[in-house]
Amino acid sequence: MPLYEFVCQACGSPFEKLLSFSQADQPQTCPRCGDTHSRRKLSTFAVGGGSAQPPASARPASSPFT
Ligand SMILES: [Zn+2]
Repeated sequence: MPLYEFVCQACGSPFEKLLSFSQADQPQTCPRCGDTHSRRKLSTFAVGGGSAQPPASARPASSPFT
């Protein structure tokens, strides 16, 4: 599950929660003051590049059958 960051609208304290996609759109309860008027910040879920590719030079360059 992705990790979402929230900011409490009442006390202004940030907090994080692991939520599913359906839960992320709903306001979360602030662990500090208990208010439910929280706003979701940018999540860390969208961070990611295409750097998980295997190296293309894994095979030997010369073949014994040439
Ligand atoms: Zn709060």
